[in-house]
Amino acid sequence: MSGLIDRADRATARADLSSYAVVNHHFDAAADQLGLADDLREVFRGAYREVQVQIPLRLADGTVKVYNGFRVQHNGARGPYKGGLRYHPEVDLAEVRALAALMTWKTAIVGVPFGGAKGGVDCPARDLDAGRIERITRQLVDKLDQVIGPQLDIPAPDVNTNAQVMAWIMDEYGKLHGDAPAVVTGKPISLGGSYGRESATGRGLIDVLGEAAPLLDLDLERTRVVVQGFGNVGSFAARVAHGRGCTIVGVCDHTGAIHAPQGLDPDALQQHLNGGGVLTDFPGAEPIGAREFLGIACEVFIPAALGGMIHRDNAGLLNCRMVLEGANGPTTPEADAILADAGVLVVPDVVANAGGVVVSYFEWVQNLQHFRWDEREVHERLAKLLRRSFGEVRARSDDRRCSLRLAAFSLGIERVVEVARLRGYV
Ligand code: NAD
Repeated sequence: MSGLIDRADRATARADLSSYAVVNHHFDAAADQLGLADDLREVFRGAYREVQVQIPLRLADGTVKVYNGFRVQHNGARGPYKGGLRYHPEVDLAEVRALAALMTWKTAIVGVPFGGAKGGVDCPARDLDAGRIERITRQLVDKLDQVIGPQLDIPAPDVNTNAQVMAWIMDEYGKLHGDAPAVVTGKPISLGGSYGRESATGRGLIDVLGEAAPLLDLDLERTRVVVQGFGNVGSFAARVAHGRGCTIVGVCDHTGAIHAPQGLDPDALQQHLNGGGVLTDFPGAEPIGAREFLGIACEVFIPAALGGMIHRDNAGLLNCRMVLEGANGPTTPEADAILADAGVLVVPDVVANAGGVVVSYFEWVQNLQHFRWDEREVHERLAKLLRRSFGEVRARSDDRRCSLRLAAFSLGIERVVEVARLRGYV
C-alpha cells in the first residue's frame, strides 16, 4: 500500500473527534475567552438553514443510485452566505455543518462581507465520468435554486469540484433565473472567473507563510516544505513556495507518498500527473510509507488534503517547526495540544487558507461591476489583505497570550456577534 494515507488512518481521526465536535471545541474556547453568554452560544453554534436533497443518478450498469446533496447556511449576519461545494463519499450533514461554521468565522477574520456556508454531495466523484458529474451538479442546482443567488449564497470549488463544475452551476442557475455570473465563484476565466482564483488558496498560504516565517526566524530560501495532498491547494502551495525559494522535500496524495531530500520540482510533478503519471513513479523522488511520510524532516508541513488527518495517534510523528493548515480542519484539538507541547507553531486554516475566499470575493466584486482586474492586481490585493489579517490575528495572540487559532476564532466570533447585535438579531 506504499504511501497511501488510508481510510483507517482517517477513521482514527473520526473516532478522535468529528469535524463538528472539533469546530465546536474551537468555538467554545473562543466564546470562553470572549465571555459570550450561553444563550448567544446556542445561536452562533447552530446553523441558520440546512437543506438536504435527493439526487438519483443512473449508473453505467443501468441501476439507479441515490446520492444526498447538502447545503448548510451557518450565519449570514455579515453578508451573503459563502462556501465551497465538496463531492466526496464521506460528505455528510455533520461535516458540512462544521465546514459551514468554519466559513462564517473565516470570512469575518479576513474581513470580507460574507457569511458562512458549505455544500456537498456524498458521491464517489473520482469514479464518475464527466457526464454524470454534470447531471449531479445540474440536479443539485435545480433543487437548491431558491436558496442560492448572487446576494443570497454563492458556492465555490472544494474537494473534487473545479471551474467546470462552477460553469455548470452558473449555466443551470441562469436557465432558471437569468444570467447571473456572480452566483458562483471559481468559474473559468472565459465565463467571468477571476484571474488568480484557481491558485488563490495555495498562493495565499505561501503569502501567510511569508508573514509567519519571521516568528520562527525562518528564511524561505532555507525552508524545507512537505505537502500532504497535491490537488488545487497543495499543488499551487508547492509551486508558489518553490518559486519563493523553498525546497519541496515530500508530497503525498490519495495514491501514495514520495520523499525527495534534495528537493523536487512541483511544476514537473504537476506535468507528470497531468500526463497520466502516478505520484510514486515521479523520477527523482523515492516512494515512502504513510507514517514515514509524516516524519520527513522539514521546517513547514502543509496539510492540504482532508480534515482530521493530523490526530492524536500521528501528531507526534511530525518533524517540523510549523504546520501551515491548507486543508479545512486538518488538526484535531488533541493533535493541537501535542504539537504545542513539541513547540510546533500551528497557523490555523481560518487565516492560512483564506486566500480562496478572498479571491472569490474579488471575483464576485468584478462580476457585479462587469469589470476585470489583471492578475498582478489580484495577487497584490490578496497579499495585502492576508498580511493585514495575519497581523490582526497575531496581535491578538500576543495580547491575550494564546494560540493563533484561539486568537483567530475569537476575532471572527467577536465580529459576527457585533454585526448580529447591530442588525438586532440577538
Ligand atoms: P482537491 O480535490 O483538489 O485535492 C485534494 C487532494 O488531497 C488530492 O491530491 C487528493 O489525492 C488528496 N487526498 C485525498 N485523500 C487523501 C488521503 N487520504 N491521503 C492523502 N491525500 C489525500 O481539493 P482542494 O480543493 O485542494 O482542497 C483540499 C483541502 O483544502 C480541503 O480540506 C478543502 O476544504 C480545503 N480548502 C480548499 C480551498 C479551495 O479553494 N479549493 C479553499 C480553502 C480550503
